[in-house]
Amino acid sequence: MPDVYAEPTTAAGPTDPATLARYTTLRLGGPAGRLEIAGDAADLVAKVRAAEARDQAVLVLAGGSNVVIGDQGFPGTVVLVRSRGLTVVAEDGDTVTVRVAAGEPWDELVAATVERGWAGLECLSGIPGSTGATPIQNVGAYGQEVADTIVAVEAYDRAHREVVRIPAADCGFAYRGSIFKYSDRWVVLSVDFRLTRSPLSAPIRYAELARALGVEVGDRAPLADTRATVRRLRAGKGMVLDAADPDTWSVGSFFTNPVLDREAYELLRARTAGLGTGEPPAWPGACDVVKISAAWLIEQAGFGKGYAGPEGVAISTKHTLALTNRSGTASTAALVALAREIRDGVHARFGVPLHPEPVLINCTL
Ligand SMILES: Cc1cc2nc3c(=O)[nH]c(=O)nc-3n(C[C@H](O)[C@H](O)[C@H](O)COP(=O)(O)OP(=O)(O)OC[C@H]3O[C@@H](n4cnc5c(N)ncnc54)[C@H](O)[C@@H]3O)c2cc1C
Repeated sequence: MPDVYAEPTTAAGPTDPATLARYTTLRLGGPAGRLEIAGDAADLVAKVRAAEARDQAVLVLAGGSNVVIGDQGFPGTVVLVRSRGLTVVAEDGDTVTVRVAAGEPWDELVAATVERGWAGLECLSGIPGSTGATPIQNVGAYGQEVADTIVAVEAYDRAHREVVRIPAADCGFAYRGSIFKYSDRWVVLSVDFRLTRSPLSAPIRYAELARALGVEVGDRAPLADTRATVRRLRAGKGMVLDAADPDTWSVGSFFTNPVLDREAYELLRARTAGLGTGEPPAWPGACDVVKISAAWLIEQAGFGKGYAGPEGVAISTKHTLALTNRSGTASTAALVALAREIRDGVHARFGVPLHPEPVLINCTL
């Protein structure tokens, strides 16, 4: 059976089976000490426990679309999550709650829910990776995030050596974050989503998507149209994986949008007024914070689309936030060097720190 996650064996791409670059969308990462494949939840727990018993560090890896793995690789055990399955665990007239195995490919799940007339995930169409990884950074796009529909996460708690069910309220969901991110304590086994039975999408919150659908922000649109439109918009930005398009050989957005408190935001506004750049696109949030466009900061700091670093790494020609291994043969060191240059350039010009969105493994910015 072809592995839906691994796709590196096109023109440029690593072929050594032990090389983690085979399992990451950036096509980067050195060798694994040991590589295991977990086909179901029990197998996943058993393989993690076995690695612990061998006193080995464990890296749980699924679609490899949100990791940057160093050129030295990972000396411990890498467990690839390949569990599958979707079960309806509760339903009433209006809603359906589905339990989805961690290894279920995310976009296949979204397609299945849209097809069945279950609303709630449609704006997250086209995002690569696995379902089990979506709670890790509270995956979001086009005005939707998984925290909107997750009811609970089933995980193996490595600290207490037991399987636990964590209600959404205890998952610490935030913008591109949760209790699971940067922690190796929990291994996600399955995720429960409560979806709404409806031929129409959830209210569209993202202006660009509303425009493309020909509706007002706050309106609903047919589910299938919403999915198709999101995928079209994403593809135009190189944000849908395409083995033939090196603009997509990335982790999606490399930097999160900075969230500034009011004082830092006013300082930035004063700085941009002095520089004559105009004001950065900003979205006010709760608790008097303001989210700023990282793409704008990067462009205004002189790093436009296509900006190239060493060894054929470059900013995508379609999206300023995506750093790509467009040669397919670069090293992680080269990608990190480009990321550092951008981060430092933005800080020098605007005084705003940028933070990476992917999880960095055996490498640092
Ligand atoms: C082209 C492109 C577009 C993207 N667009 C978006 C977007 O719009 N919005 C967005 O939020 N993200 C986006 N991403 C990032 C990425 O697709 C998501 O974060 C996705 O959920 C990662 O899933 P994965 O299975 O590939 O995770 P991996 O990269 O395999 O892992 C990511 C992290 O999660 C951990 N992890 C994975 N599975 C488990 C598990 N079962 N239990 C415990 N830990 C686990 C890993 O150890 C690692 O720390 C994009 C990426 C690409 C390449």
